[in-house]
Amino acid sequence: MIARAGFLIVFAFAAAAQTPDFDRVQIHVEPVQRNIYMLSGAGGNITVQVGSEGVLMVDTEYAPLAPKIMAEIHKLSPGPLRYIINTHVHPDHVGGNDAIAKLIPQDPLLPLKIIAHSNVLNRLTAPVPGQPPAPRDGLPLDEFATSRKNMHFNGEAIVIYHEPKAHTDGDSIVLFRGSDVIGAGDIFTPGSYPFIDIERGGSVQGEIAGLNHILELAIPAKTQEGGTYVIPGHGRICDDADVVEFRDMVVIVRDRIRDMIGKGMTLDRIKAAKPTMDYDTEYVSADSFVTADQFVESVYKSLAGGAK
Ligand SMILES: [Zn+2]
Repeated sequence: MIARAGFLIVFAFAAAAQTPDFDRVQIHVEPVQRNIYMLSGAGGNITVQVGSEGVLMVDTEYAPLAPKIMAEIHKLSPGPLRYIINTHVHPDHVGGNDAIAKLIPQDPLLPLKIIAHSNVLNRLTAPVPGQPPAPRDGLPLDEFATSRKNMHFNGEAIVIYHEPKAHTDGDSIVLFRGSDVIGAGDIFTPGSYPFIDIERGGSVQGEIAGLNHILELAIPAKTQEGGTYVIPGHGRICDDADVVEFRDMVVIVRDRIRDMIGKGMTLDRIKAAKPTMDYDTEYVSADSFVTADQFVESVYKSLAGGAK
């Protein structure tokens, strides 16, 4: 119970520590491949797909950034914003939904649809003591409860896959089949340990399954560059090889901790044994959202509950 409270406090602290000065944040736009662009500012990366039918975006960062984000998207396409897909419930990915919905012109013939797995909607609408309810305009009311949702927009097939119990219980990855790009959400965060949010239904087993699924969908090119591009929840545009490296790290750390649990070691002893030590220089920096100890704790809790 104490450890659980500690994890929550650390999460709240990390979230607060990361709240940026929004006036100073600039939105960077990078072309990814064909119809797809990546926008980054503060919070999670945004994937944008543009074409003759309008605009689709994956995740929305924070509300105060909505005017800057929409100004950049308008430079890419004058078309209407038709879809927002949310990869999960964290505020640095859904925080701009409501502000963006209010900013755009309302057209009853072409209404904005906000899509997410139903676990995201359930968490956003569950009352939290002491907090106002999430604004209705920003809710993903076009929710889905199936393992995948198919769409066709701007001349390409788009598949949204639910990745169960991964970094939360409502994670989706978004495959743009024509452009050959995957929006991975926070299942994949190169340069940082994954934030496995146990309180919101995440687990290391689901995290690894999600990464393996991305690798099933991604096809490397014959040359070193190209092939499927993967847009992570945070960090730079990546390819198949980057996901392999990250997946291998998570699997190796999971195996080490599983062995230690098998030897009867407590969480404190496992943390003291530093099962991530050889990876810390690559995955921990001064502004890391997840510390090595937090990552170890989330893996331990995933496994110690009797799961494999
Ligand atoms: Zn997240």
